[in-house]
Amino acid sequence: MSDAVNYSVRDGIAVIVMNNPPVNGLGSVLRPGIAESMHKAEADPAVQAIVIIGSAKAFSGGADIREFNTPKSTMSPTLPEINDMQDRLKKPMVAAIGGFALGGGLELALGCHYRVAAPKTQLGLPEVKLGILPGSGGTQRLPRVVGATEALKMMTTGNTVTADKGKALGLVDEVVEGDLLEGAIAYAKKLVAEGKGPRRIRDLTVKVDGDPQAFFAAARAQIEKESRGYPAPLQILGCVEAAASLPFDEGRKEERRRFGILVEGNESKALRHMFFAERQTSKIPDVPEDTPVRRIERAAVIGAGTMGGGITMSMVNVGIPVTMVEMKQEALDRGLATIAKNYASTVSKGRLKQEEMDKRMALIGTALGMEAIKDADIVIEAVFERMDVKQDIFRKLDAVMKPGAILATNTSTLDVDAIAAVTSRPQDVIGTHFFSPANVMRLLEVVRGKATANDVLATTMALGKKIKKVPVVSGVCDGFIGNRMIEKYGQQSLFLLDEGCSPQQVDAAVQAWGMAMGPLTMGDMAGLDIGWEIRKRRYQERPDFVYSKVGDRIAELGRYGQKTGKGWYLYEAGSRKPLPDPLVDKIIEDYRRENGIKTRAISDAEIVERLIYALVNEGAAILEEGIALRASDIDMVYLTGYGFPPTAAGRCSMPARWAWTRWSRPSRDFSRATRAACGSSRRCLKNSPPKARPSPITTPGSRATRTHTRGELP
Ligand code: NAD
Repeated sequence: MSDAVNYSVRDGIAVIVMNNPPVNGLGSVLRPGIAESMHKAEADPAVQAIVIIGSAKAFSGGADIREFNTPKSTMSPTLPEINDMQDRLKKPMVAAIGGFALGGGLELALGCHYRVAAPKTQLGLPEVKLGILPGSGGTQRLPRVVGATEALKMMTTGNTVTADKGKALGLVDEVVEGDLLEGAIAYAKKLVAEGKGPRRIRDLTVKVDGDPQAFFAAARAQIEKESRGYPAPLQILGCVEAAASLPFDEGRKEERRRFGILVEGNESKALRHMFFAERQTSKIPDVPEDTPVRRIERAAVIGAGTMGGGITMSMVNVGIPVTMVEMKQEALDRGLATIAKNYASTVSKGRLKQEEMDKRMALIGTALGMEAIKDADIVIEAVFERMDVKQDIFRKLDAVMKPGAILATNTSTLDVDAIAAVTSRPQDVIGTHFFSPANVMRLLEVVRGKATANDVLATTMALGKKIKKVPVVSGVCDGFIGNRMIEKYGQQSLFLLDEGCSPQQVDAAVQAWGMAMGPLTMGDMAGLDIGWEIRKRRYQERPDFVYSKVGDRIAELGRYGQKTGKGWYLYEAGSRKPLPDPLVDKIIEDYRRENGIKTRAISDAEIVERLIYALVNEGAAILEEGIALRASDIDMVYLTGYGFPPTAAGRCSMPARWAWTRWSRPSRDFSRATRAACGSSRRCLKNSPPKARPSPITTPGSRATRTHTRGELP
């Protein structure tokens, strides 16, 4: 038997211990050992009952992700075969669940005839989060134990339940307070003493609240409303309906059929890609995983503005004390009040306890000078986006901070190397580019300067995970990964306005495609002054870089978006709902007329192509330049920082699907694919110049004459 499974017999109880760290994934090293142990126990006349247990941390996290998509994952005995064996056992089998039982892990526990659990255990079938459904009888067994309503709730949300809730639902027979294994053995002995044999879930019937037809019709209507086109929840409903109306084996067949449909679908492919992509981001080829990290026990944040406040919250949320530094007391008071207001709003919604808010607020200190933070392990600068201001701060930090402190900047566009260069310790300097609101957004671009030490990078990545972000490494360039790409997207959105679209049409088209919001609504949210400042810089630095100036017309009027109550849209006081503004339509029309731009009808498909390919092209360039470590890191930046739809591939029937599926390929392959998807007439890579084509649209207002044709990427 493999080392991953330990088998012993204690007082007539066979004990099967699973030992496949880190989460007891049910891989090819574990499954044969479990099956063999069950055979042994069944054949041994001295054994009266069986207990199966994992580690204190994990009963089992389900399938072993290291074996995903390998022949090992389907090697016999498979989990369904083990479940069938459990159903055939003549002796009762008890699952002793500690830590968590998730996915296949819970299906293994559901194959057992009884379940006991440690108090803090989490139980769940989260497959829906990967766009699939529990494929080893979970959809048939769970409703037979907890009823159709609760089973649907658990499986369509993927949320876990605690041991106590599991007990209330009948999923857990006993919560064991002390030693779990001892408790489970005692429970098994009690079963034997009471003459209780196997209690097979397959023999139970599903409890449905009310008339089954009406129940499932109502459930279907609700899921259709809430699942936003994702197919897995509806397929799960179909399985539960089968569990309630068909014999167990027929229901299992239905489960397999529906599982197969989902596994082949684009949504689940995209969600699984995302699952693995997230795990890849922390793998840095020249920074081994065992690189020693520096201790981070105390942090400081310079600047208590929008970002400084959010960054501080992210830290204190996980118990890291933070001192915020400002130039004036009023700014500190304002920053602290904003944080308190944010927490209070979460408390009022019942999502945070008042004591927890008080605990977090107590972790925040304030100071007016750098001296107070000299012992911090990391300091994150979040002041105005100006090189002279940032360099001045880094000179001061260099003078006061203890040796070995990490000096981080939250700059969104500036050169991290130029900031590091003013210090005597550039190896300790790194970029930590948070996204707004920093306490909410999961993305953290970790900008590796040319001198950044490996342990500084490893420590910052680990800190990023600790504060529950998705840290993605970026090289130094203007805008790093995300903002460099979004600039091309924004640029294209302005061209679309020039050529005949309204802001509403542009936004609606990409939103229907799946983006969380359109580019103009996003501009209003971020502040139109930010993009305007960048463009003004571009006009000086890159006169060859063509931009429509229609956006400048809006910003010149002081219309900076939500913060001024008007931008591309109008906002009523206290509302973030964008309302169309006839004045904006007039500004756009005047701009077109003054610049001799002829308009035409532009389809939604063209809008989406031009916007998404603008992202794709810049992403390809970023890969080729080595700014991003891998294609999937770019995906994570867009998924976690920019509202890119996880299931884009499934939602659109246009060639943009290529963008998604090819994004994760090596860049050359990717760029070829993208070129194919864009069509041969289009320029798809920065370094693949377009063929000269007649230009139907020129904008004399630009410094250079614009020469893009319909749908062509400039
Ligand atoms: P902000 O204007 O809201 O806050 C900046 C704060 O820094 C102000 O409170 C100011 O008083 C303080 N400050 C300025 N100079 C200082 C000094 N010498 N010492 C101490 N405090 C000083 O700006 P923000 O939006 O929080 O942006 C801060 C940084 O984060 C910028 O580099 C910005 O580019 C970057 N960033 C912003 C966003 C965003 O969406 N706002 C997103 C990512 C990154």
